[in-house]
Amino acid sequence: MSNYKDEVHLKVQEKIYPPEDIVKRAWIKDYDEVYKRSIEDREGFWAEVAEELHWFRKWDKVLEWNFPYAKWFVGGKTNITYNALDRHIKNGKGDKIAYIYVDEDGNEEKVTYSELLEKVNALANGLKRLGLKKGDRVSIYMPNSIEAVVSMLACARIGVIHSVVFAGFSEGALHMRIDDAKASAVITATYTKRRGRKIPLLPTVEKAIKDLDYIKNVIVWDRDKEGVTDKDDKYVDLNRLIEENKGECSPEEMDSEDPLFILYTSGTTGKPKGVLHTTGGYMVNTYYTAKIVFDLHEDDIYWCTADIGWITGHSYIVYAPLTNGVTSVIMEGVPVYPHPGIWWEYVDKYRVNIFYTAPTAIRMLMRFGDEIPAKYDLSSLRILGSVGEPINPEAWHWYYEHIGRKRCVIVDTWWQTETGSHMITTIPSYPMKPGKAGKPFFTIEAAVVDKNGNELPPNTVGYLVIKNPWPSMLRTCWGNPERYEKYWKEIDNVYNADDLASIDEDGYIMIVGRADDVLSVAGHRIGTMEVESAIVEHPDVVEAAVIGKPDPIKGQKIKAFVVLKVGVEPSDQLKKEIQNTVREILGPIAIPEEIDFVDKLPKTRSGKIMRRVLRAQELGLEVGDLSTLED
Ligand code: ATP
Ligand code: MG
Repeated sequence: MSNYKDEVHLKVQEKIYPPEDIVKRAWIKDYDEVYKRSIEDREGFWAEVAEELHWFRKWDKVLEWNFPYAKWFVGGKTNITYNALDRHIKNGKGDKIAYIYVDEDGNEEKVTYSELLEKVNALANGLKRLGLKKGDRVSIYMPNSIEAVVSMLACARIGVIHSVVFAGFSEGALHMRIDDAKASAVITATYTKRRGRKIPLLPTVEKAIKDLDYIKNVIVWDRDKEGVTDKDDKYVDLNRLIEENKGECSPEEMDSEDPLFILYTSGTTGKPKGVLHTTGGYMVNTYYTAKIVFDLHEDDIYWCTADIGWITGHSYIVYAPLTNGVTSVIMEGVPVYPHPGIWWEYVDKYRVNIFYTAPTAIRMLMRFGDEIPAKYDLSSLRILGSVGEPINPEAWHWYYEHIGRKRCVIVDTWWQTETGSHMITTIPSYPMKPGKAGKPFFTIEAAVVDKNGNELPPNTVGYLVIKNPWPSMLRTCWGNPERYEKYWKEIDNVYNADDLASIDEDGYIMIVGRADDVLSVAGHRIGTMEVESAIVEHPDVVEAAVIGKPDPIKGQKIKAFVVLKVGVEPSDQLKKEIQNTVREILGPIAIPEEIDFVDKLPKTRSGKIMRRVLRAQELGLEVGDLSTLED
């Protein structure tokens, strides 16, 4: 039985060294030295980072920790939009491109830092004219676009709290999020483009707010100038609002702890939580993690393929790339339309240096074969990022070889809506281990513990916890402080991430699943992700999800749901082969006794596998909140 542990950790013990030119260029070359210093003086470390940004008034105290409530840069006053825009313009970079927007049809629009500020100021003035003021909430239900970024920044400019809702959500999910935040206005568009179609957004908003009489305005980006806002004074045309309110809008001097936004978690493990982030700490932490993890430099072209509707979009499409002053690509559309090489075509065309995406997308694109990326010149790439789920070693190697051409580093970034920025991640200057996220970011003390908070020996699966406060940590759950306190009180007064992990002898952390999904077979705690990754090693498999089913002898037995490569027929023979693959990689303890072949897996709209749906179906249980299920 010890077999299981030895073998699984051997498997992902492989170390791949970063190319020398990348290490040479990296901001941080010696992780260990900097990490040590950061732990010895956490507050001093963050203060030094905060000095790189602009404050209208400097903080009096870096951290006030009144368990489990933290205040960062106490007494400091700043505005994140000032650091994202004005600061660069004052430094003579106003003509630099902030965003290159592209859609599926190759339509392109570029906006410079100066132009972006002009729009943000105008919309901020417009929002004020509509009566919005600091502390009010505005829901944003917009396509992935420059207009969406402008909407978020216009709110932040005047201290309005934005709550972005992914534009793929239906009216019920949208209603819940607007109503929970009690938004006084909604910013939306007539439609978003997806797979060559125009998906209407405005009608969904109208249904979602039917009974919500506290909504004073609906601001609409009328993309085809249909005059949709003419019907009623409540409706306001976004572009007209910008046009009519041009001019300076001085940034609201925000207290470091003033709220910046509310964002709901993905809902993978249950009902989404309304996470509240504040201004100063979030700004400093996102700025610095992007700088170090993506090794951002002045002339970089950066592309994060997430949607602004997720935390990855907030932190690493909007705020951090702007505070770092780089040029970003932002795309409206899906990775496979009009062809499954569209992303690589744009990487080639725009000479993208840093590319950040999710394992679900990589696994999907792998299905179409290696020939597709091979057609493009991807030599501009330097750093590849992964986020959202554990990246299976199989997918990792494909990304490394077929996209990175073995010349890039892969940074596997573990973090959450709640954490605001990267927490455990590879950085470009130390060796990568495929399938392991990497080491804790500076100042972060992570541990793997049992239910009582006792640290577990290396290579043992347990709860992943963070032992200290960090600047971009969530401050509360909107309207639900008890839920917030639960993060810190469930396990021995440390932050419980609700994920399972193990740490190896070198300090690399492997995320092996969700706490809710843990498998317990004959007394062994096995992460779902470990078994899934082993299944995916079979050449005919692209994706897998496993759950535990009650078993009178072993406690639980493992059942797997498996998606095969296009054109492969399911068979009993194949089941045996898959079981053998798992036996070889993880040992007999982890073999799935039951295997179902399926066409697809239930996922959240952000692309994460929802094992709880499979489990509920299989065991005839309540499935719980389904508002975030893909379809
Ligand atoms: P909910 O909290 O509502 O169940 P969610 O946890 O999926 O939804 P997010 O905040 O979007 O909501 O996702 C954070 C989670 O995503 C992490 O807790 C982790 O399980 C997973 N995750 C993110 N990045 C990584 C990564 N690099 N490796 C492994 N897992 C990751
Ligand atoms: Mg979560």
